[in-house]
Amino acid sequence: MIQVFHSIAELRAARAAAQPASVGFVPTMGALHEGHASLARRAIAENALTIVSIFVNPTQFGPNEDYNRYPRTLEADCALLETIGGDIWVFAPNAAEMYPTPLAAMQLSFSVRELDKKLCGLSRPGHFNGMLQVVAILFNIVQPTRAYFGEKDYQQCALVRCMVSELHFPLEIVPCDIVREADGLAMSSRNRYLSAEERTQALALSRTMQLVRENRVVLDTPAHAQSWVKTALQAYPQIVLDYFEILESSNLSPIEDLDTAKEPRMFIAAYLGKTRLIDNMLL
Ligand code: AMP
Repeated sequence: MIQVFHSIAELRAARAAAQPASVGFVPTMGALHEGHASLARRAIAENALTIVSIFVNPTQFGPNEDYNRYPRTLEADCALLETIGGDIWVFAPNAAEMYPTPLAAMQLSFSVRELDKKLCGLSRPGHFNGMLQVVAILFNIVQPTRAYFGEKDYQQCALVRCMVSELHFPLEIVPCDIVREADGLAMSSRNRYLSAEERTQALALSRTMQLVRENRVVLDTPAHAQSWVKTALQAYPQIVLDYFEILESSNLSPIEDLDTAKEPRMFIAAYLGKTRLIDNMLL
C-alpha cells in the first residue's frame, strides 16, 4: 500500500510510531520509471519499511537548467509504485517545507575537495553542492538504515558515499545497476523530453561505449578512446558531446594507460537539443 506524506513532522511522527526494524530509502525527483522501480524493489526486499522521496530539488539546478519544466507527475508515480506491491511511504514535500530558510539566505553548503571537480561538476557548477545538501537533509529526516542509489548517476553515488563516510551518517549506501531500455538507452526521467529523432540518436551514447569496450585492444589510452568517440559521434548531428572520459571506478581518479588501470569506467554526457543525458559503463 502507498501512503503519501507531504510534511516532515507527519513523516517523522509516523516513523516513530511504526518503529520499523529497518528503513530502506530511495531518494528521487519523481517522473518515475523502471530504473527508480528497481531501486524501490530492492529496498522492499531488504527492509521492513521503504520510503521513496519525490522532490524536485531547486538547489541542484543551475539558472539555465530545466527546474521549471522538470516533469512533476505525483499521481502517476504513486500508481507505478503501487504496481510493485509492498508497503511504500512516499515523502513528497514542497520546497517551502524542505527549505524554511529562503534559499538566498541559506548559510550552509557542501564544499568537496576533488570528487566534484570533474565530469558533471565542471558542466553543472553548484549541482553537486545542491544534491549533497538535499540528500543530507533527507537522510536527517528519513533516518534510513540503507539508501539506494543508481549507478546511472555514478559521480553522485561516489559523492554521497564520501559524505556518508566523512559525516558518519549511520546508514549504508547501496549502489544499484543501471536499468536500460530494450535497445540500450539508459532510462532517465529526461528521456521524455526527446523528440523521435533525438531518441533515435540518443542510442549512440550507449552504443559508442559498447564499441569502445569491443575495441579496447586498439584503444589503449583514454586520450585515444576519447578522440575515437568524438569522431564516431560526428555521425550524429543532434548530439553535442559534453564529455567522454575514462576514470577509475573506485575514486574517479585519472587513468594514463588502460592496460594497467584497475577498473576503468567510461563516462559520457551529451546534449540532444536542450536535453542533457548522462551514462557510464565499465570498460
Ligand atoms: P532521479 O530521480 O533522476 O534524481 O534519480 C533518483 C535515483 O534513481 C538516483 O539514485 C538515480 O541514480 C536512480 N536512477 C535513475 N535512473 C536510473 C536508471 N536508469 N537505472 C538505475 N537507477 C536509476
